[in-house]
Amino acid sequence: MTTTDTMSPPAFIPYGRQDINQADIDAVVDVLEGDWLTQGPAIERFEQAVADATGAKYAVAISSCTAGLHIACLAAGLSRGDTLWTSPNTFVASANAARYCGANVDFVDIDPQTYNISISALADKLTKAKATNTLPKVVIPVHFSGQACNMAAIHQLSQEFGFTVIEDAAHAIGASYQSVPVGQCQHSAMTVFSFHPVKIVTTAEGGVVTTNDNTLYDQLIMLRSHGITKEADKLTSPAEGGWSYEQQTLGYHYRMTDIQAALGASQVQRLPEFIARRRQLAAQYDEMLADLPVIRPYQAESQQSSWHLYVVQIDSHKTSTTRKAVFDGLRAANIGVQIHYIPVHTQPYYKAIGFNRGDFPVAESYYQQAISLPMYPTLTDAEQQRVVATLRGFLA
Ligand SMILES: *Cc1c(COP(=O)(O)O)cnc(C)c1O
Repeated sequence: MTTTDTMSPPAFIPYGRQDINQADIDAVVDVLEGDWLTQGPAIERFEQAVADATGAKYAVAISSCTAGLHIACLAAGLSRGDTLWTSPNTFVASANAARYCGANVDFVDIDPQTYNISISALADKLTKAKATNTLPKVVIPVHFSGQACNMAAIHQLSQEFGFTVIEDAAHAIGASYQSVPVGQCQHSAMTVFSFHPVKIVTTAEGGVVTTNDNTLYDQLIMLRSHGITKEADKLTSPAEGGWSYEQQTLGYHYRMTDIQAALGASQVQRLPEFIARRRQLAAQYDEMLADLPVIRPYQAESQQSSWHLYVVQIDSHKTSTTRKAVFDGLRAANIGVQIHYIPVHTQPYYKAIGFNRGDFPVAESYYQQAISLPMYPTLTDAEQQRVVATLRGFLA
């Protein structure tokens, strides 16, 4: 028996984190020891890996999902005077993409069960917008937490009301909708993924846009690199020599490096393993939380979530404990819970352009009660049990 034991704080458990193995490290080192740090063969390998994983015809690697949303909007023709609609329950980047193009933003409230864009609210708003000639040019559905939106319904509305669909799939690589991988663009023009370390696979920073449309693909390739092309068949006048290139539009420097792409290509090979573990952790949470006053994440039958997030709502009908008390308590216990999301329209920037608290009440009341529990493939069963036991203590 020792008398000198001091209680050291339990190890910190984040809400999400990357899983890097030796093969990932070796892939990056290979690039560092090779000839191409950027614009080399690792980019094509990574793009092919994402195209294979999603079943899309084309994949374009870019420096971030945010950059991808921006050039996807540009490729869709979004510009000044146009309007883009998205969900208020998302990261600010989904809406900011429109602002980069000089376009207006509006939001459609969420479904109280899936926390994704509400199809009935979308249909109602479209009908009203048609009457006032204010239809959106682009709609960005966000596959919140990794559960895809009702894409068949959104696609049908896009046909009826004439808008372009760009999927924000930052949470959803590895997810399926009606057994088809998200990113195959069955019901959209383009899908945009994020590879930030808290997401499902990582390139440190990075993103990919997938599409099946050859014209959109060509535009995305130009827009990610200054609006420049070197391809002989795309030049507007005959090449003067082997050095010739043309800047044909105003593009950006949104390229990914080969260092990042090599990591991504290696990570994508591990996607099935990552998703399997996330699904297992979600099923375990579902079981362990069943008797607690929390609303567990609803899953629609047509969905196979990638489980980027596991979000519960503190059920205010069943407990007097507040979400804030639970959040503060878990953080004090070294458990890195997070909140997804502060409704975008309540951010000062969006308030300054006319939005108000109360505009999207379902997203706002969801936000008041929501808390994201730790969810990542290397979270151990023991750590997950500690999360649940600690949460249970605050809800008792
Ligand atoms: C993370 C995230 C983004 C932005 O991704 P970056 O790669 O960091 O630019 C966009 N939309 C959603 C829903 C996200 O979660």
